[in-house]
Amino acid sequence: MPVAYIALGSNLENPARQLQAAADAMAAETQIRIIAGSSVVRSAAVGPGPQPDYLNAVVAIDTSLPAETLLDRLQAIEHAQGRERAIHWGPRTLDLDLLLYGDQQICSPRLQVPHPAMAQRHFVLYPLAELCAADFVLPSGETLAALLSNCPADGLADSGITLDYHPQH
Ligand code: ADP
Ligand code: MG
Repeated sequence: MPVAYIALGSNLENPARQLQAAADAMAAETQIRIIAGSSVVRSAAVGPGPQPDYLNAVVAIDTSLPAETLLDRLQAIEHAQGRERAIHWGPRTLDLDLLLYGDQQICSPRLQVPHPAMAQRHFVLYPLAELCAADFVLPSGETLAALLSNCPADGLADSGITLDYHPQH
């Protein structure tokens, strides 16, 4: 079964609770097994107007779901937690992005994997690095270490929040 990595983010309505609820919902899926989860990082929002800070984390999962079906489940979880797609890059209760799905490269109208913005996002790369070996290689052939060295952690803080990921062994 492929190992996939999911990025979780929230900056509205008690973000820590939103991330925990998302982890609970993923763990409850019979075709998703959570292997491990990262610490929770805090960063300033990027996007229109003043917005609350974001909390972000990454989880590693095993899944028997095809990538597009996994995206459907992630979007259902976003929707269940009140996600409204009103403003592009606006504040959101929950954002779940599929970062990596095994070593697959996917480019369909609704799904691009690896996630096209991950290399520019410190709040994705640093939590991801907690879950991967130092020599982890992306489908592009780039190492995670190379992406990290091009993406400073400036402005990224440890939130001090710990999630219960319900890892199943
Ligand atoms: P963003 O996460 O970039 O802020 P959204 O969460 O609103 O934006 O997602 C917009 C669209 O991105 C979704 O409707 C989805 O079909 C598409 N998308 C493409 N690739 C991915 C991916 N790897 N993970 C999640 N969504 C993706
Ligand atoms: Mg998204």
